[in-house]
This record gives sequence, C-alpha cells and structure tokens, in this order.
Amino acid sequence: MPICENCNHQWSWKQTIKKTTTLNPAMTCPYCGEKQYQTQKSKGRIGMLTPIVLLPLIIQMFFDVPAVILLSLFPILFVLVLFLYPFLVKLSSKEKYIGEP
Ligand SMILES: [Zn+2]
Repeated sequence: MPICENCNHQWSWKQTIKKTTTLNPAMTCPYCGEKQYQTQKSKGRIGMLTPIVLLPLIIQMFFDVPAVILLSLFPILFVLVLFLYPFLVKLSSKEKYIGEP
C-alpha cells in the first residue's frame, strides 16, 4: 500500500482507490493534506496488470472455451486487478515527468 512521502502515513486500500480513480494526477494525502503523485515506476507496474484482464481473450485463442465461462471471467479478473492495484502504487511528493530511473 502506498506511503505518503511527506508524513510517512500508509494509505488504506480504500483511500488509495478513491485517490487514484480521479483524473487529477495530484492526490491529496488524507493525513497531512500534502499533494502526492504516483511515481512513473508504479504506473508502469500497474500497466502490467492490464494484460490480466485480457487473459480470457488469450485463453480463447488457444483453447475452445465456452463464451459463458470467458464472460464470467472478466468481472473476476477485474476485481482481482482492482484488489492488487493499491499494493503497487508508490507515492512521491514531486511530480516527475522524465528522467526517473
Ligand atoms: Zn501525508
């Protein structure tokens, strides 16, 4: 779970979801009120979760799986990604555009 770089408080799962689902890249820490940004690295890691949601389509390419099963997989995988995702969020006090290792 993400830790605020300013006050070192750990955000809860619910708080993380709430803060990261807005379009605003600046997220206000619920503890100290400072603006926090998601690091590029954590954005990259979250991007790697996306293929999990597309997994049923890949399965379909190789195996003859009934569509009903595949369709029921989508919400399960979506919930799984949503559950995992706050664990990958890393916060920084600075908004970095380029050059972050
Ligand atoms: Zn804070």
